[in-house]
Amino acid sequence: NTEITEDWLQNYVDDWVSFYRKQTSEGEVASYIPILKEANQDHLGITILGNNGMTINSGDVDVPFTIQSISKVLSFIVGCMERGVSYMLDRVDVEPTGEAFNSIMHLEMRQLKKPFNPFINAGAITVCSILDGKTSDEKLEPLFELLEKMLGYRPALNVDVYESERDSSMRNRAIGYYLLETGYLESDLNITLETYFKQCSIEVTVEDLAKIGMILANDGEDPNSRDELIPRQVARLAKALMLTCGMYDASGKFAAYVGVPAKSGVSGGIIAVSPPRVREEELPFIDGCGIGVFGPALDDKGNSIAGIKLLRHIAKQWDLSIF
Ligand code: GLN
Repeated sequence: NTEITEDWLQNYVDDWVSFYRKQTSEGEVASYIPILKEANQDHLGITILGNNGMTINSGDVDVPFTIQSISKVLSFIVGCMERGVSYMLDRVDVEPTGEAFNSIMHLEMRQLKKPFNPFINAGAITVCSILDGKTSDEKLEPLFELLEKMLGYRPALNVDVYESERDSSMRNRAIGYYLLETGYLESDLNITLETYFKQCSIEVTVEDLAKIGMILANDGEDPNSRDELIPRQVARLAKALMLTCGMYDASGKFAAYVGVPAKSGVSGGIIAVSPPRVREEELPFIDGCGIGVFGPALDDKGNSIAGIKLLRHIAKQWDLSIF
C-alpha cells in the first residue's frame, strides 16, 4: 500500500538503473563505425516524461550520444509532411523484414517492389533521397526545424561521428548502389548518402529522446504547448512502424515483452512511447509518457542490452504495454 509519489518513482527507477547497469558487461559497444568504439560500456541512463509534467532522470542522463537509427523515424515523418503519406507509402513499404537493419539480402529479390520499411537502411536511404532539397543540408533543414520545435533547442551534428561513418560505411554505399540500379532513388546517390550519414550523427541526450517520445505518445501534439508538431495521421503511422519494425529483428520480442512502440539506434539510444490510456488501477503520473534510454553496450541484435532489460522491467511493473 505504498503511496505512489513522483519521489517514490524516482527512487524506484534509480534502484533499477543501478541493478541493470551491472549487466552492461554482457553486451558490446558498436565497433563497425570506428569512433563508436570509444563509448563507455558502463553507461546507462533513462528519462521518463509524463504528459502531465512528471520528469524522472536517472543514471547517465547528461552524456550526449548520436541519434543513429532513431533518426529514421524523424526523416520518415518529415518526408510524410513534405510529400504526403500516400506518396511515401508508394515508395517504402510498412512490413518488417526479420533481417538486420543493414541487410542487403532482400534487395536481390527480383519481385521486390520497394524497400520493406523506412527503418531499415534501404528504406531510410530511399527516404533521404525523397526529402526536399538539393544538398544534404537543405534536405535536413526541415528535420532540424522539427527537432528545434520538439526539444526547444537546435541539436548539433557530431562531425567526428559523421566523418567516421562516411569514411567506413561500405555496406551503406552498397545498399545505395542497389537502390540506384533499381531506380528507387530520387536524388543523387552521394547527396542521399551524405544526408543519411548526417541524420545519424545528430547529437542528443536521453531527455531529448523522451521529449520526442512524449510528443509521439500524444499523437504529434506537444502536451505542454498544445501545438500540433506532427500531423496525427503521420504520428500514428510512425508508431505503428516503431512497434513492428523499430527494434530491428527483435521487434517481435520487444512487442511481446515490453509492448510499446519503440525505436533504437546503434549508439545505444532507445525511444519508447507509452500512449495515454484508461487503466484499471490508479497509477498517477504515468498517464502517457515518452521514455528515452541510453546504454551503449548492445546485445547481438544491436539493441542496448541493459536498456531493453530496464524498459522490460519498468513496462511490466507499471503496466505500460498497449496490449
Ligand atoms: N549509422 C548507422 C548505419 O547505418 C545507423 C544504424 C543503426 O543505428 N542501427 O550503419
